[in-house]
Amino acid sequence: MTQVDTKPKTTESTETFEQKVRAQIEALSYLPTSAAVAMKFLELGRDLDAGPKDYAKVISGDSSLSGKILALANSSWAGVRYKITDVTKAVNLLGLGTVRTLAIAYCATGLHNELRLSAEESKPFWETSLCKAVAAKVFVDALDDKLADEAFVAGLFQDFSLPVLFAVARKEYMKVLQRTDLDACQQLMKERELFRMDHTEVGRMLAQKMELPDLFVDAVAFHHNYDKLEEFIEQKTIAQGIYAASLFPHLTNAWHSHDTDTLRAFLEEHSPSTDIDSYLATVQDELNSVYAFFHDGALPQTQLIELLERTTREVADNTTELVGTVNELMRQAASTGMGMNELLKNQGQLEDKSIRDPLTGVLNRDGFRSYAEKQLAKAARYGAGFAIAYFDIDKFKDINDTLGHNVGDATLTTVVSKITEVLPESCELGRFGGDEFVLLFNDCNESDARQLVDRIVSAVGAADVQNHGNAVTLSISAGMLYVSPSGTRQDFDELVRAGDELMYMAKRAGGNRAEIRTVSA
Ligand code: GH3
Ligand code: MG
Repeated sequence: MTQVDTKPKTTESTETFEQKVRAQIEALSYLPTSAAVAMKFLELGRDLDAGPKDYAKVISGDSSLSGKILALANSSWAGVRYKITDVTKAVNLLGLGTVRTLAIAYCATGLHNELRLSAEESKPFWETSLCKAVAAKVFVDALDDKLADEAFVAGLFQDFSLPVLFAVARKEYMKVLQRTDLDACQQLMKERELFRMDHTEVGRMLAQKMELPDLFVDAVAFHHNYDKLEEFIEQKTIAQGIYAASLFPHLTNAWHSHDTDTLRAFLEEHSPSTDIDSYLATVQDELNSVYAFFHDGALPQTQLIELLERTTREVADNTTELVGTVNELMRQAASTGMGMNELLKNQGQLEDKSIRDPLTGVLNRDGFRSYAEKQLAKAARYGAGFAIAYFDIDKFKDINDTLGHNVGDATLTTVVSKITEVLPESCELGRFGGDEFVLLFNDCNESDARQLVDRIVSAVGAADVQNHGNAVTLSISAGMLYVSPSGTRQDFDELVRAGDELMYMAKRAGGNRAEIRTVSA
């Protein structure tokens, strides 16, 4: 960790697209709710004692989901003559397995809804996600049915960053996705040219924002990299299901022969009792029924066997057909989040008070250290860039000495609230002692990190602390280290020491400023 970086040369639009993707991720707010619902159903699936009543309780917390389940129970598909108005009865009728699959799939509609894509725009992405979910599930089900739900979730989320990239650069990204001459991995390279990130990295950031368990974060981060899946995912079968799903097309306009060949060979090696034709037939069947649930009985556009046949004929229709009716569910999903969120939050555990600083409410030294150690491990695992900043209030002793300890305390809380006001969600602040604070900015690029630390110094400098009607002059000095993406695990103490040294340089230069360095591992 010594070499000073020069800025990578990129075109302006690439840089803008990258910024827009990051801003888009930051703006998505309902994601943890959607994920929490899915996780709740996974939990129910693992609980052998959970019955229709337990399922009904979670479903009833979400009016749109209840409506959907009741409508399905009353549809001709279920073949019941009397009207069902009770969610528990509907769950009984449909069966727990079906309800779990549908409810989990339903959670992914939250993301589509938040992106505000038109129904037509989101439809192909939605269909791909469902197809991958089912593909992973069917693969795993044949080997170990207890893991089928997990596989479904992992498949469902693996490509959920595609609509995010699309929302940022509609025309440019669609061109990449529609290229029938590229296999899945070649598409990743094209994404990196366009956004400086590919959909596995963006997806991984989304998965972390959704607070998904590590299994799913890894599933999203490494779905195109079987070695990493094997290395990080304990349940080998799930790793295999995720990889099999990743070989399905990103858009269902064509299927590259390299991917179908890999899938065929992968099945032969890892699931010898399943050949590609019967595998695809089962996936298609299940996709049809899940899809029908969301589209009032309609069938998906995706026809896997047909696609497989087309790859060998080498002709692929170059245009994606974006057809379909308005999906009302996606529109409704935005309004559902809140009630469910509370229901699930209440079940969460209370945080250990010993990790917080009682005066300011931010993490204390120990709390921050344990948080940061976890994040540094993740940054290394996923090759993410991050920044660490050290702050110290200028001449704080004078404030204490001349105005008293109480004004000193008020100054500390004001400083913290000024800092936290400008922090993005991916940041965490800790109080390191007296008037010293440390900040970790996860998963950021260099320019965002620089801007943030400058904003913090200005915000504290502009803070209005009053003492008997007189304004108290206040400023802060900062030392920030940006660590560019690498797979190397950084040492926490070393980073803090480096941040502290930079902060002292800022002080020596007169304070009220930030000293910033970029390092690469
Ligand atoms: P510099 O510009 O070099 O940073 O000088 P400074 O005056 O800020 O010096 P220093 O950072 O060493 O001062 C920290 C002071 O913060 C010393 C200590 O009495 C005071 N302090 C530590 N904890 C608290 C607290 O919880 N409340 C108050 N009011 N003061 C505190
Ligand atoms: Mg100080």
